[in-house]
Amino acid sequence: MTIRVAIAGCRGKMGKEAVKTVVNQEGMELVAALDYKHVGESLAELEMFPPDLNVPIYLNLSQLIEDTKPDVLIDLTSPQAVYEHAKEALLHNVRPVVGTTGFTDEQLEELIQLAEDKQVGCIIAPNFAIGAVLMMKFAKEAAKYLPHVEIIELHHDRKLDAPSGTAKKTAQMIAEVREEQKQGHPLEKETMDGARGADFEGMRIHSVRLPGLVAHQEVIFGGEGQLLTIRHDSFNRESFMDGIVYCVNKVMELDKLIYGLENIL
Ligand code: NAP
Repeated sequence: MTIRVAIAGCRGKMGKEAVKTVVNQEGMELVAALDYKHVGESLAELEMFPPDLNVPIYLNLSQLIEDTKPDVLIDLTSPQAVYEHAKEALLHNVRPVVGTTGFTDEQLEELIQLAEDKQVGCIIAPNFAIGAVLMMKFAKEAAKYLPHVEIIELHHDRKLDAPSGTAKKTAQMIAEVREEQKQGHPLEKETMDGARGADFEGMRIHSVRLPGLVAHQEVIFGGEGQLLTIRHDSFNRESFMDGIVYCVNKVMELDKLIYGLENIL
């Protein structure tokens, strides 16, 4: 069976790579693109794509679904757009595979409920890179023994949300095994706002944004006389593509929402 795939965010850094991946993937067909520019054109008319890529571009997701009947919608857009896209897709029984980060906890809860009510599969993966998923798993294991931990995530300076979805997810996974505790000196005081980073149950998360970076994260554990650093680097967007292919296949078997690749690997 061929899986019919639509992609939202095709012109973006991730989207472009995902188009290439889906088009070259056996068992998948790219049937439509969702965008708010170039509406009514086809991807073939955009310079960045091959001239024979006759895939229509839609503004309206319901129309896209009615006309092209996708099984899966891959979303690689922005924190402002992704929630509505995922909700609309689920309401139409189209399975979302979401890489876009920046959901609020309330939005996530709503989508989990909607997917359950509709019994439609959905995967939201803050990080599609297998190495990053392993980093999170290893960090959770290390936190059982070394509960003093800080997370430093580093991304390119076009990223809209901070901290990254991966950093938040890492902190949540660590929190499952680590009792909430304040770190640092009990009397410590910031003399400049934000100096100690964001606070998640006493763990500190620091976000670095610089041109030249792609997606990187260090989880640093401190103990008496020792330091453990777990680090993952994505040097290019290709590092995310195996995870996307895996999720598009996997979501076809699901009837609920899964948050995080580590829960299905
Ligand atoms: P990007 O280069 O800015 O691409 C986003 C694309 O979405 C742009 O082409 C943008 O168009 C388009 N867009 C914005 N709003 C839209 C809407 N309402 N409908 C359709 N298209 C819309 O960003 P990126 O680096 O590719 O990243 C995209 C998302 O994936 C971000 O949230 C990022 O954090 C996330 N990400 C996830 C992973 C993962 O492994 N899960 C890895 C890397 C990145 P304009 O530029 O014209 O506004």
